[in-house]
Amino acid sequence: MISNVIAGNWKMNHGPSATRKFFEDFFPDLSFPEPRILIFPPAISLLAAVEARKGRPEVALGIQNIYWEPKGAYTGEHAAGMAVSAGAEYVLVGHSERRHVFGETDEQVQQKVLAAFGEGLIPLICVGETLEERQDNRVDEVIVRQIRAALNGIPETATQFLLAYEPVWAIGTGETATPSDAGSAHGILRDVMTEILGGDRASEVPILYGGSVNSSNVSDLLDVPNVNGVLVGNASLDASSFAAIAESA
Ligand code: PEP
Repeated sequence: MISNVIAGNWKMNHGPSATRKFFEDFFPDLSFPEPRILIFPPAISLLAAVEARKGRPEVALGIQNIYWEPKGAYTGEHAAGMAVSAGAEYVLVGHSERRHVFGETDEQVQQKVLAAFGEGLIPLICVGETLEERQDNRVDEVIVRQIRAALNGIPETATQFLLAYEPVWAIGTGETATPSDAGSAHGILRDVMTEILGGDRASEVPILYGGSVNSSNVSDLLDVPNVNGVLVGNASLDASSFAAIAESA
């Protein structure tokens, strides 16, 4: 399994020129080619990112969202195949902002996962509970439901994907799950995957932690069993802070 995956989700930040500037600053700051780095720029900046990262195979690019239909009258959406032809290798699916700001359902997440596999895009599937769900002691129930729905019907041949446990209350808030809470959620996700996919396949899936990760807390989180990388929002926007996270990893 690839471990120590460092993924950056830029959300709705950095147009094409800011993207070029990010990479100009990022590569000199990055001395370690070791961790696998994934960057998810806005779709409109993907081509600029493809150009800017030429010759740096340790950095792969992804799209933040896809629609499940291959083409058609879906204004504003991007199909999986279009993302591939623009240079994306990965796609974020089920990010909490898609679920909670845009109302994406478990079924829609599943359709997007299937569409991604259909075009050879590698999905990074996000799950996580809200604060209310945590306070109601429903963490396990929520993440198990989300992961079961997302993996429902995936083809036997679909071996490559990643998961991210991102508690909604930790995203963009400065609050981070304790290593023990992260370990417990990641352990549950590994167990459910083992049940669904079998041990050999499940052990190959990196599970990332996301939620206010920065260069000070990344090492402690990566020490936790079953935490195989991190998904970073705010701290991935600045080239030097994202490079510092990659270095700490
Ligand atoms: C995210 O957007 O996936 C995320 C984890 O954001 P932040 O690091 O800002 O909490």
